[in-house]
Amino acid sequence: MRQNQRNNIPYFQFESLPDNGRIQHAIFTRQGGVSPAPFESLNLSVSVPDEKARVYENRRRAYGLYGRDTDTVVHAHLIHDTAVARVTQANNGTWLPHVDAIITNEPGCALTMNYADCTPIFLYDPVHQAIGLGHAGWQGTVKDLPGAMVKAMQTEFGSKPADLIAGIGPSIGPCCYEVGEVVITAVHNAFDDPETLLLQPANQQTNNQQPAANNHRPHFDLPEANRRNLENAGVRHIELSGLCTACRTDLFFSHRAEKGRTGRFGTVFILA
Ligand SMILES: [Zn+2]
Repeated sequence: MRQNQRNNIPYFQFESLPDNGRIQHAIFTRQGGVSPAPFESLNLSVSVPDEKARVYENRRRAYGLYGRDTDTVVHAHLIHDTAVARVTQANNGTWLPHVDAIITNEPGCALTMNYADCTPIFLYDPVHQAIGLGHAGWQGTVKDLPGAMVKAMQTEFGSKPADLIAGIGPSIGPCCYEVGEVVITAVHNAFDDPETLLLQPANQQTNNQQPAANNHRPHFDLPEANRRNLENAGVRHIELSGLCTACRTDLFFSHRAEKGRTGRFGTVFILA
């Protein structure tokens, strides 16, 4: 990813999503907004107890980089499942209930989602000029939300998985994502090589006095799990952000690192 800044709003972009005039995209950080702690400062979500007027000002600043505002982008009410909604321009300014992914092939559509540790998923079909934006926490990951997005783009737009360009945005990384039995069991049920996604912390691997895993829980590699989901769906071009939201609370909101008292950073994906 590369970092840019306009109008004092920093944002990241995937190097592999082309600057071809057909798409625009950004992963905003927590910087550049007006909200106070613990939502400082560019909180884009009204699902946390920040003042709405501040959230709307933050959106005006962030989406405004693309000539948009709250009423000219598509919003989603995320529920950690695998439903994918196809939208048109008529959905700009509306909230889609109960979906964790949105796809469109209609120029003018602007897709948005908000995050604090869950994984942003971007898909672009340069052949059919279609885009998809998704949100996968551990539940969406073990239920294969990325695979559901690829299937939906195949069905709706005739997309070929091998043509798709995918970006996996900043999420909590294996460095910080300690998980318990529920997640461990779900990962074992969902993936062929679960042990390669449930990593032991580095300090245990060097401690040969005691067997690993007795004292510490494993750390789930969320971005790698979603890379495998996309690969299993036939996607070949996949870019990972390399950024951990819990390590980088200077840049991003992290539900885990900030113990739930935090905001949500946003993404936008526009078909021009
Ligand atoms: Zn980390």
